[in-house]
Amino acid sequence: MLPTFDPRDTEAGSRILEDITSNAGHIQEQVLEEILTKNASTDYLKSFLNGHSDKGLFKNKIPVVDYEDIKIYIDRIALDGEPSRILTNESITELMISSGTSGGKQKWIPKTAEEGERRAFFFCLLATVQNRYLHGLNDGKALFFVLINPDIHTPGGLVLRTTTASEIKNRKDRYPEVILCEDTNQSLYSQLLCGLVQRDAIVSIGTFFASGLQRIIKFFEEHWQEMSSNIRTGQMSDWITDPKCKRTVSLILSKQMPDLADSIDLVCQEKSWEGIIKKIWPRTKYVQAIITGSMAQYIPALEFYTGRLPVVSPAYVSSEACFGINFKPLCNPYDVSYTFIPNMAYYEFIPIGNHQDPNCTNSKDAHLKDHIVDLANVKIGQHYELLVTTCTGLYRYRMGDILLVTGFHNTTPQFKFVQRRNVVLSIDTDKTTEHDLQNAVTIAMHILEPLGFFLLDYSSYADTSSIPGHYVLFWELQLRSNDDIPELDQVKMEKCCSLLEQSLDLEYKMLRNQSISTIGPLEIRVVKQGTFNVLVDFYVSRGTSLNQYKTPKNIKSEKAIEILDSRVVGKFYSREVPNQDS
Ligand code: AMP
Repeated sequence: MLPTFDPRDTEAGSRILEDITSNAGHIQEQVLEEILTKNASTDYLKSFLNGHSDKGLFKNKIPVVDYEDIKIYIDRIALDGEPSRILTNESITELMISSGTSGGKQKWIPKTAEEGERRAFFFCLLATVQNRYLHGLNDGKALFFVLINPDIHTPGGLVLRTTTASEIKNRKDRYPEVILCEDTNQSLYSQLLCGLVQRDAIVSIGTFFASGLQRIIKFFEEHWQEMSSNIRTGQMSDWITDPKCKRTVSLILSKQMPDLADSIDLVCQEKSWEGIIKKIWPRTKYVQAIITGSMAQYIPALEFYTGRLPVVSPAYVSSEACFGINFKPLCNPYDVSYTFIPNMAYYEFIPIGNHQDPNCTNSKDAHLKDHIVDLANVKIGQHYELLVTTCTGLYRYRMGDILLVTGFHNTTPQFKFVQRRNVVLSIDTDKTTEHDLQNAVTIAMHILEPLGFFLLDYSSYADTSSIPGHYVLFWELQLRSNDDIPELDQVKMEKCCSLLEQSLDLEYKMLRNQSISTIGPLEIRVVKQGTFNVLVDFYVSRGTSLNQYKTPKNIKSEKAIEILDSRVVGKFYSREVPNQDS
């Protein structure tokens, strides 16, 4: 049973947080016991445990699985309409679309009413932490952008939606109507317009992921003149036809407001958009968006647009379960750790000897189970891959996320989100991870930063159309001054390519150094401005929610590569073979 409390009662919430984080090991044992007792008779668990619910047996017999291993069970429920009890004795009411990292295939994750309650509890705890550390949040309004896609119905009769859409549609009365609009452009336009009209009341701004916030700022850049004209005339643009948007905006935009329009024009007409958020919403104290893991690449851009407002990376959550809360919301973006909430799910961890080699934990490894540790037994400084077991029917399920233990709050570990397990680039025996690539890109950008550039977004793929194959990175650059990108200095760009190669691991450098190279010189293709917005629009048009969108770092879709390639304005290659000794 989860304790209940009023989320506005910070004292009560803090007491619960202290209590549960002081008893992490015990609570985790209880959670596992509850899951096994509840679900022992499901087809899945029965096939391994013969109807027993013994925890020792669970650890001995239940295999570590990837989504692909359990897809067959989920498909039976989702496609063939078979009952939930194949996986869980809770009743599956919806399926959550999980993107993991985009670019990968979508996953369908079971959701139950009980899971909805667990999530609600998690978000009450999050509210406690925020009320405790983020002062002034109640002195005004929060402008939090939420975008949802239309529901899809599976042949088996279940609704398929994102976790955000699920939360909003199941508790419609708690949210402004505008966020129920399922047309991303109309919804975003209307939310921004409401935020502009109420600009003096806004004290915090946010959305889920930093990539989404960047897309929203770009959308504002494309539409501010039209929005300002709407405010001046008191009339909303004709293309906003969704009744929910129209109703919400008309309540706020009820008269002509020329002075407000003038002041918005004044700010937006400035050539550089440095600090635009702070200038448009001058009372903003915090910006909220996840900036850890692959989202760290957006930190420089967010610092630029927000005028260095504190960026709060609130929590580590997924479609599968809620995991951790950032107990120091005002810490440096690069130091964020999440304290796991022990009563959300049962967590286990596969230690990773050398986190640079994420493939060293192979799910088919017979000895893998011997190395797994539970939450109470993780060690500071060690990297782990997270496994989750839930009431909703996931058992020893690999999240694919690699975490580093940074400390403890009472007896509960705190984790830094390091990277996805996925290898993003691979040729021959080289396996470059998202983390390796992100580090290398950050180092290479040091060459361009003094010239006023920052990297708006990037992606990559292994081009094996010629021999030897080579890695290609697509870069979208932006100048702080907002000037058009000038012709790029060939020597400096080639230096970026070499520095990138130099920053990759030894395996890569060895393959580049062979007398007959196995990997050819790395290439940077600079794309024209706005390209990554077109890429977002492409993925959103194919059903990805903008709220969940994470730029794929390993582009696989030919259409997506085509979108990027058709906008290339400069190609640069590394001219030096990387030095293996450094
Ligand atoms: P989704 O199920 O589509 O919401 O995606 C969940 C995935 O997003 C997780 O498995 C992580 O890879 C990523 N994610 C969620 N929260 C964070 C976070 N705080 N920092 C970094 N990555 C995150």
